[in-house]
Amino acid sequence: MRITCIGGGPAGLYFALLMKKADPAHQVRVLERNRAGDTFGWGVVLSDQTLDALREADPETAEEISDAFNHWDDIAVHFKGRSIVSSGHGFCGIGRKKLLNILQARCEALGVELVYEADVPDDADIDADLIIAADGLNSRIRQKYAATYQPDIDLRACRFVWLGTTKLFDAFTFDFQQTQWGWFQAHAYRFDATHSTFIVEAPEDVWRAAGLEAMSKEEGIAFCEQLFAKVLDGHTLISNASHLRGSASWIRFPRVVCKTWVHHNDRGTPVVLMGDAAHTAHFSIGSGTKLALEDAIDLARDIQAHGTLPTALDAYQATRSIEVLRIQNAARNSTEWFENVERHARLAPEQFAYSLLTRSQRISHENLRLRDARYVGEFERWLAAQSGVDAQVPPMFTPF
Ligand SMILES: Cc1cc2nc3c(=O)[nH]c(=O)nc-3n(C[C@H](O)[C@H](O)[C@H](O)COP(=O)(O)OP(=O)(O)OC[C@H]3O[C@@H](n4cnc5c(N)ncnc54)[C@H](O)[C@@H]3O)c2cc1C
Repeated sequence: MRITCIGGGPAGLYFALLMKKADPAHQVRVLERNRAGDTFGWGVVLSDQTLDALREADPETAEEISDAFNHWDDIAVHFKGRSIVSSGHGFCGIGRKKLLNILQARCEALGVELVYEADVPDDADIDADLIIAADGLNSRIRQKYAATYQPDIDLRACRFVWLGTTKLFDAFTFDFQQTQWGWFQAHAYRFDATHSTFIVEAPEDVWRAAGLEAMSKEEGIAFCEQLFAKVLDGHTLISNASHLRGSASWIRFPRVVCKTWVHHNDRGTPVVLMGDAAHTAHFSIGSGTKLALEDAIDLARDIQAHGTLPTALDAYQATRSIEVLRIQNAARNSTEWFENVERHARLAPEQFAYSLLTRSQRISHENLRLRDARYVGEFERWLAAQSGVDAQVPPMFTPF
């Protein structure tokens, strides 16, 4: 089979290498508009569960990814001068660049053709049996065939900027800072020996009122450094989105859902959406890369398992769209939580942190206890004390 992937992000590269590995007779090509080694973004988070899926799909890359991981268990919530830590969360962080380098090297070793500085304006000239549109969040291909894919794009209410810092955080850290205009929050985690990701987020009206819209990129960074000076502990913030100028580095997260994922172009070639081109999940639950890699695993497996390409593509869309919906539900809860910090900020720090930890509704009270019995015990005792009870009882048994 002749396969062309448009876009050499995690989705395009991983699918390419899995297909070539499954059958070296496949001609697999990845067209990437950037130069090799050029990339934006800092570290991404993957769960232990995702790593298991990667191990099964391709142990070679899984081992390298695993070696490059920074593992941590704690989540720290800094709010109104308090720091509340909960443990047992099991996450891994890896630099986006490192991840792409591992996938690129594996593609090359397997014989995938990687073509850099190849900005694909259109799929019309691509002579292939299968085209993968893995061209990211602002997918041109998705736009071109919008009548088939029927994308629903919901621009969320907060502005955020994806920065890095040399401050090495021991825990996945959420830091909340109140300003005269409203609340700003930082999501920070270490992803390698020298750097941490540092995402700053605020509701659009707060961001505007603070004057960030009119600031240059450098002024915006200086603003954040000052605001989060305590947690940054003398370290600076760094941007590596050199392609974005001024306030353009602050974006509103687009939640993308597509009704269908397969279009047959004028040549009759299936053009299949994958990764961020097909769907997005808010960064606060750290699942975008996971979904992109799992899309690749599932389509490669479906092509192996089903006799014909149309059946495999049907199976791919059916299974992936359900999984994506599941993650997007959790992501929506999490997105909305961060859009409404002003409301949650009326809670005491103990309740605020608990609400944050359970925001996606994927982690229940008892699940949290399995992760960190000490934290839940202390929280239950604190909550009971608010009703005058001196005991550790589950919240539902405290008096009104
Ligand atoms: C602030 C932030 C934090 C995040 N944190 C996490 C996290 O912790 N965990 C996690 O799992 N995910 C995270 N993500 C999401 C993650 O970055 C994406 O979901 C993931 O990169 C999607 O992979 P992809 O291959 O589909 O798309 P991309 O990584 O966007 O790759 C698309 C590629 O296509 C190329 N391209 C685009 N158009 C063309 C064209 N016309 N021709 C040729 N090439 C083209 C681009 O240059 C790019 O290399 C985060 C995202 C953001 C914004």
